[in-house]
Amino acid sequence: MILITGGAGYIGSHVALALLEKGKDVIIFDSLELGHIEIIDILKKYGNLKFVQGNLKNIDDIRGVFLVNKIESVVHFAAYSQVGESVKNPQKYYYNNVYGTLNLLNAMLEFNVNKIVFSSTAATYGEPDYVPIDEKHSQKPINAYGNSKLIVERIMDDYDKAYDLRSVRLRYFNVAGADSKARIGEWHEPETHLIPNILKADSKKSFKMFGDDYETPDGTCVRDYINVEDLAQAHIMALEYLNNGGRTDYFNLGTGMGDSVKEVFKACEETLERKIPVEICPRRAGDPAKLIADNKKAKEILNWQPKNNLLYSIKTANEWEKKLVRIKSGIIL
Ligand code: UDP
Repeated sequence: MILITGGAGYIGSHVALALLEKGKDVIIFDSLELGHIEIIDILKKYGNLKFVQGNLKNIDDIRGVFLVNKIESVVHFAAYSQVGESVKNPQKYYYNNVYGTLNLLNAMLEFNVNKIVFSSTAATYGEPDYVPIDEKHSQKPINAYGNSKLIVERIMDDYDKAYDLRSVRLRYFNVAGADSKARIGEWHEPETHLIPNILKADSKKSFKMFGDDYETPDGTCVRDYINVEDLAQAHIMALEYLNNGGRTDYFNLGTGMGDSVKEVFKACEETLERKIPVEICPRRAGDPAKLIADNKKAKEILNWQPKNNLLYSIKTANEWEKKLVRIKSGIIL
């Protein structure tokens, strides 16, 4: 069985679905603090899925999973991921993201499970010295979220050397879109990400554009939006890489292309075929002007190739937004 921590969340659920559709047996471990039981209920329709509610901060919760299930490898998502919150409350981030991961890794050692794919982030690079950012770029995070992920990357290096616990760390850029059939998608409460916030905007609540005075061609921040299904495929390839004896490594996951906030906004208006109310606001603290991935390494070593463009991500996100409204009102599952 493949254990997915945080599998009731956005990216974890897309990886779970992709594995289930490949006929793999999956066990999701999730506290449901940020994940949603509705997502688990949907996923259960698509294969052999077991769900355990638990918290990585409780070592016995996660030991119990290894004790009663034959786990062959782990994909680890469970973490807090809001940059602003991490600056205000670093304790919460280090305790959950670092201590929680230590409990997971220690349980893996105890039960002789030696392969893990870890959800890392471009935030481990900090303010970029150059773009596109390759994996050789220095890692100097500028917030506690990025630090917590970098600390875990370092722990994984040491566990590899000492205990032969092999890891693949996937450093995501901006993840976007939803399942192609709108079965699952992004569901954060409250939502902070760009595309869902544009899609949710209406006459009552306009979209807030954070800063139009950056040193970029149109003054708004440029990001590399990677489609969530492409991202899920990279996790499957990373698992295959580890199964084939691949050594501990780390890869950027992005498209290699950048789009500005204004470009994304315009593409959303075109997709929705309506004007979206927008308000220009001050810059959001901690936002670098430009983040773009150099993705050559993942292409070469994992054989990964992103297929879906930004427009596709916006279309699928929009279909999911419509479904989410119905799920939240209890109309469908
Ligand atoms: N952004 C925005 N309004 C929003 C959410 C995001 O203008 O409601 C901007 C944000 O300042 C950044 C870009 O969109 O420049 C991407 O932000 P997001 O939170 O989606 O991802 P991040 O880059 O923080 O990982």
